[in-house]
Amino acid sequence: ENPVVEKLELAEPHLAGWLSSLGLGVEYIRSQGNTLFYRDDQGAEIPVLDLVGGYGSAILGHNNPDIVAYAKSLLDEGTPIHAQFSRHPYANDLAWKINGIIQREFGTDEHYAAVFANSGAEAVEVAVKHAELDRVMKVAELTERIEAHLDEARAAVRSGARIATDGAVDLLGPDLAPGDAGDIDRLLDAVRAANSERLSARPVFLAPEGSFHGKLVGSVQLTHNVGYRSPFSALAAQCRFVPLDQPDALEKTVAQERRTVLDLTVEDGVVRLTERELPVICAFILEPIQGEAGIRVLDRAAVRRVQEVLATIDCPIIVDEVQSGMGRSGAFFASSHLGLQGDYYTLAKSLGGGVAKAALTLIRGSRYRTDFELVHSSTYAKDSFSTLIAGRTVDLLEADDGRAYRLAAERGDRLLAMLGRLREEFGDIVKDVRGRGLMIGLDFHDQSESTSEIIRDQAQAGLLGYLFAGYLLRVHAIRIFPTASATNTLRIEPSVYLTDDEIARADKGLRDLIEVLRKQDGETLLHA
Ligand code: PMP
Repeated sequence: ENPVVEKLELAEPHLAGWLSSLGLGVEYIRSQGNTLFYRDDQGAEIPVLDLVGGYGSAILGHNNPDIVAYAKSLLDEGTPIHAQFSRHPYANDLAWKINGIIQREFGTDEHYAAVFANSGAEAVEVAVKHAELDRVMKVAELTERIEAHLDEARAAVRSGARIATDGAVDLLGPDLAPGDAGDIDRLLDAVRAANSERLSARPVFLAPEGSFHGKLVGSVQLTHNVGYRSPFSALAAQCRFVPLDQPDALEKTVAQERRTVLDLTVEDGVVRLTERELPVICAFILEPIQGEAGIRVLDRAAVRRVQEVLATIDCPIIVDEVQSGMGRSGAFFASSHLGLQGDYYTLAKSLGGGVAKAALTLIRGSRYRTDFELVHSSTYAKDSFSTLIAGRTVDLLEADDGRAYRLAAERGDRLLAMLGRLREEFGDIVKDVRGRGLMIGLDFHDQSESTSEIIRDQAQAGLLGYLFAGYLLRVHAIRIFPTASATNTLRIEPSVYLTDDEIARADKGLRDLIEVLRKQDGETLLHA
């Protein structure tokens, strides 16, 4: 006989124990639409209203029947999932579909090249790598131009041109011995020595405070959350986080990061030392609606300032639409509401229709470096299965003249109205309601001074939202979680098929949670 052996947890064992302590350690056995099912002790299926929506990956619902049927048909037909280094017309079709959407939503006719990946963080890293390749190639082009100018200057001096020595000492400092500025060979040596030092400047990224762009080695440095980022800061290029609510903060940061290299010009028989801008700021990356920072819609005026400042230094903008994209905001790209056309766009999460792992990065044609294709790839990226499903997902969003976008906007407004009433009625508990379409945050007041020890402890540990999540799951069969970096904010990201009944259920559960909080009843939150 097989005795039931309690199996030691080896799959992220700590997480499993912690989830169980809050009552979140359930095993879901099935999912459909906005519902996940688990079995109770008697074996009955318990439906749970899912407001997490796979952290934004289920805009068309769990196991969308159309996508599931399509996925099955692909497998039945023996789709060639792995056929790297061959023609992939389906990938080109998807790139064209999304280009059509970019043209419609941003009113541009410029094309974007598509590079395929497997996850959101990877799509971000594709953008980061491409931006760095572009920067390095620009630096190489600049170095080549300067070398040509140095040769020209030398030839000019040989044929009688004069060297304007004023200012050279200031620019070259210790690289130039006093009196050497008038000697072209010594001057050239000094310029080359200074430049080789200056050209080794490390690239830097800029992002708004609160940014979340993934947890891989490169992308986690673009993620503001200190706990996720700082242990790994030695592994990758650094990012400076800019408070966009301070109007001149970005300009100041850009000025601080400004670096130059030296060059010589020849004009009217005079050789002069000059400075040229060295591109060190690799890219500015932002989320049009910040997700993990607690669902914060970027301010239009702030975005306009970002665009203006970056244009002065020709710095590319990476628009990370991993969470906000795919129709969730009421348009395919949330950035289209802000009039923010990116040099790069990243898509993942819902791109795979909630079924496949799919991601892609779009790169503006005028910045695109074809060399990138020779240095970047991933085994499963652009595979027929996930890419075709992504294409079908985009088709479903676009169907009936964009019905899904209208639904996201309309359902989102309903949710926002319901949550807004909670904010009005219980302003002592509910701090704020934010978002757009089906990307909504319900922000609770801090409870770290709570009279309940349980609530106080969880709040001080930054786990308040998870305490709420356990209660809502156990008592109301509602699945909800906080955002990753703002744990007092509950994220609400269901599919476009959210019903009025489901909104009413969410209302009821949240009202009850608020009542328990008003009573400061930590026992009930943790154990009910
Ligand atoms: N960018 C943004 C804006 C995200 O919200 C996330 C995930 N929360 C990522 C990147 C990373 O995506 P993934 O988890 O698929 O790596």
